[in-house]
Amino acid sequence: MLTLALSKGRIFEETLPLLAAAGIEVAEDPEKSRKLILATNRPDVRVVLVRATDVPTYVQYGAADLGVAGKDVLLEHGGEGLYQPLDLQIARCRMSVAVRDDFDYAAAVRQGSRIRVATKYTSVARQHFADKGVHVDLIKLYGSMELAPLTGLADAIVDLVSTGSTLKANHLVEVERIMDISSRLVVNQAALKLKRDMLRPLIDAFAGAVRA
Ligand code: ATP
Ligand code: MG
Repeated sequence: MLTLALSKGRIFEETLPLLAAAGIEVAEDPEKSRKLILATNRPDVRVVLVRATDVPTYVQYGAADLGVAGKDVLLEHGGEGLYQPLDLQIARCRMSVAVRDDFDYAAAVRQGSRIRVATKYTSVARQHFADKGVHVDLIKLYGSMELAPLTGLADAIVDLVSTGSTLKANHLVEVERIMDISSRLVVNQAALKLKRDMLRPLIDAFAGAVRA
């Protein structure tokens, strides 16, 4: 049995065509069912639905043999115990710094004063501001980062941006682009050896679909 860990929403949706290229069809729509384990047209392949940030953990411990996780999530997790054979080029966005449209970010950074940054991505944010030589106080949040500069919790946020419409709707502007983000295939290192005969064709089919 091969167990694939996916998160609901865009990663699930954008992984479906890659699975199709490998001849795998998921039997149920996660938006319509409450099931957390989904069968496929292949009796030896199943999908487990987990929170996006939990995908690396399931794969690291072998509860799932493989999974799909954003680079953002993998950087925070650290990637321990994970083989990352493929950038799937899905769920693309960027990780950026954003501030209120009336906040002078350039001046705040230039003055060398401390700035307060709210983010879910504390390790990427810490590294980014260390590289710039900017003193930073990090505030860990788990969601709705956009609210932090509006309520005075923080001067800036580090968050994922795709179209920028959420920022715009909240009077925030993107002031720095830290890195491009996409989702990667992650494979349990032990499974890669023990289930090689099942995994290899799957990884190859995914690679072919990404190239196409
Ligand atoms: P939850 O919504 O359950 O709190 P989450 O916000 O981490 O969890 P998603 O919003 O589904 O989950 O994001 C899953 C992954 O998709 C992220 O880890 C990231 O790699 C990618 N992603 C997030 N936001 C965007 C976006 N705006 N555009 C494209 N990809 C994104
Ligand atoms: Mg979300």
